[in-house]
Amino acid sequence: MNGPALAAVIFDVDGTLVDSERHGHRVAFNQAFADFDLPYRWGEDLYGQLLHTTGGQRRIDDYLAAQGVGPADRARLAPALHAHKTAVLEQLVDAGVIEVRPGARRLLRELAAEGVAVAVGTTGSRRWVERLLRRMLPEVSWAAIVAGDDVTARKPDPEVFTRCLLELGRPGPAGVVVIEDSAEGLAAARAAGLCCAVVVNGYTAGHDLAGADLVLDGFGEPGAPAAVVTDPHGAGAGGILTVDLLRTLSSGIVRR
Ligand SMILES: [Mg+2]
Repeated sequence: MNGPALAAVIFDVDGTLVDSERHGHRVAFNQAFADFDLPYRWGEDLYGQLLHTTGGQRRIDDYLAAQGVGPADRARLAPALHAHKTAVLEQLVDAGVIEVRPGARRLLRELAAEGVAVAVGTTGSRRWVERLLRRMLPEVSWAAIVAGDDVTARKPDPEVFTRCLLELGRPGPAGVVVIEDSAEGLAAARAAGLCCAVVVNGYTAGHDLAGADLVLDGFGEPGAPAAVVTDPHGAGAGGILTVDLLRTLSSGIVRR
């Protein structure tokens, strides 16, 4: 059934579409520290905490400040480290180290088949995101891609999503659903007035997601359903995030 209720779906990238944090970004940050002869190494648990700071360069800057690095050194180091880390990450992408989350490809295929526009709203850099999407999801035609370089304020600020709506030609949040993996992304979607389904991963399962319209622990696939964490509107969620389920969420049980 094709209805007008679902016009577009906006996806976060890191942690949502791709399992990029633990085995991608974190590894690349550590390689950058090593290549700059700096003693810092981010373990998996520490990185989970650092992820609350969105934007890689800001994450480095905040961390260096906490290590007692002064403003002048940080102003020099943070951009240089971040640029190097991005180059390392691109090599990881090309090496096929980063994977699309199970079920994401299926959902994107179903959305395309039903004529629902898909967009990306991320705090990652455009260069990284475009390279990643081109390599990992070349079959998807994105109606809009808004990256961290396109906004003045990153998530949890809603700017990335309000810009997505503009680029999608949507007059407002009605008929659009955001899919996120984290509390910061959820907060940004909510601040933009958008319906938001969250697919948590190992790093974000403990986040406070009280405002989410649906929380699953993955996209789910036939034969390998995700766990339903919360279905606050009684949308009848099974363990598979489907177009029909997104349509239900956007069609009126959720805020106006
Ligand atoms: Mg994310």
